[in-house]
Amino acid sequence: MVTTATEPACLISGLWRVGGGEALNSLNPTTGEVVMAFNMASADDVEEAVRSAREALPRWSSEPPLHRQSLLLELARAIDAQQDVLVESVINEVGKPRSEAREEVRRAIAILVYHAGAILDPDGVTLPSPTGGGFAFTQTEPLGVVGLITPWNFPLAIPMWKLAPALAYGNTVVLKPSPEATATARSITRIAAELLPPGVLNVVAGGAESGMSLASASVNGLSFTGSTPAGLALARQVAGFGVRFQAELGGKNASIVLKDADLERTAVVVARAAMGFAGQKCTATSRVIVDSQVAASFTDLLADAIAALRVGLPSADETEVGPMISPAAVARVSEVVRRGTSDGAEPLVGGVPRGDLGTAFFAPTLFSKVSAESELASAEIFGPVLSLLVADDEADALRLANSTQYGLAAAVFTRDIDLGLRFARKLDAGLIRVNGPTPGVLFNAPFAPRKASGIGLPEQGKTARDFFTLERTIDIVSDHDI
Ligand code: NAD
Repeated sequence: MVTTATEPACLISGLWRVGGGEALNSLNPTTGEVVMAFNMASADDVEEAVRSAREALPRWSSEPPLHRQSLLLELARAIDAQQDVLVESVINEVGKPRSEAREEVRRAIAILVYHAGAILDPDGVTLPSPTGGGFAFTQTEPLGVVGLITPWNFPLAIPMWKLAPALAYGNTVVLKPSPEATATARSITRIAAELLPPGVLNVVAGGAESGMSLASASVNGLSFTGSTPAGLALARQVAGFGVRFQAELGGKNASIVLKDADLERTAVVVARAAMGFAGQKCTATSRVIVDSQVAASFTDLLADAIAALRVGLPSADETEVGPMISPAAVARVSEVVRRGTSDGAEPLVGGVPRGDLGTAFFAPTLFSKVSAESELASAEIFGPVLSLLVADDEADALRLANSTQYGLAAAVFTRDIDLGLRFARKLDAGLIRVNGPTPGVLFNAPFAPRKASGIGLPEQGKTARDFFTLERTIDIVSDHDI
């Protein structure tokens, strides 16, 4: 392995520095090469970053909204100008296929523009006095210093969908990106730090330990995206400290195929929804539930659509499925596949690593004969593995779809829009698509996961303001007449 000098990955008070914690490498999943060697932040670094954000808060929070708006728009333009560099960074560091990496950069820009616009939205409501006379009104103010902890699978979009509203509404920030995406986080925060006053945005590199340090520091809010166990650990950590907490967590998303669906189109949509970025999206379709009346024909179409996906190097324009994040992730998925097969499930497509492409590749895999209680049907696999379940009828399809502990995203495929709407209203998930793929969160709508998929106020859309601001009611009493 090539040894590389450690690079500064922590940004505190406007200055980049090498963290005081242990050394770590971020690796290219396609080649195994070191993308960035860095030192994680120590607990002292994290405290200093929070102090720096605290010092920058009074000035930043009292800037005129128009000033914050123009800075966010300037940041969007600066990211636009660096698109190619950011796309290469995402491909190299997390192995996202080029077309999806490009899409992610564009999404990060759109998120910034959206929240820049929302800065001047109406703020609060006016209420009549219940007893007559005066009136009351509500107003918001920034929550304060916020900690943002993000995963590696959307290394630009997820930091941005937290950072943009946090900054828009006058908060200062300490971002703790995923260690697997440290270089990409540095690329984007470098661009931001050149525009923002020192201390408004701070970055602490590292893994779970740095995340825990941030949860223990005196932040006013903590916004987390990642796995359910890590989210629960953080929720326990902040409980009792008055820290506002939100978490977007794991999923086991179902696509339901009803008997009147356009089966050919649905097979292609579901194959991509399950296998895009090698299934490493929280909203990836991980279960497909098919009405028994069309199960045989749909299974064939789906198997063909999955087998036809172009698996290859993420840098290639035509690649639809690239590597997983690491060889360890491939080993973990191989174990799930082995256990599933020995439980009686049948791999119709794939089921094996693709060592011919590299050590982090796993073939897109479709399992049939999956029992509803099995690991394949209930656990988040976070890899290119799709489980097919057959439903007796519509009621059974709904029951199966709602039967896991998760409630992130779901999709229903039918030509009957009325039936699609009835399903949409009964599916226990925060994002439901009718005739479309489960992935692809709308940045202008609330993303409100249910059950083990989320905690606290939803992210995205106008609801982002609710998390990043404090509300105050002002009651004007007037009991005199002229
Ligand atoms: P992860 O939970 O391992 O890590 C996420 C972040 O939390 C990283 O920055 C990590 O360093 C930090 N972390 C991990 N354990 C921690 C702990 N105990 N205390 C404090 N911080 C901790 O997740 P990942 O592997 O980076 O991402 C994959 C997971 O994220 C999947 O479960 C996926 O479903 C989920 N995810 C959810 C959404 C969503 O919007 N719901 C979006 C993307 C990913």
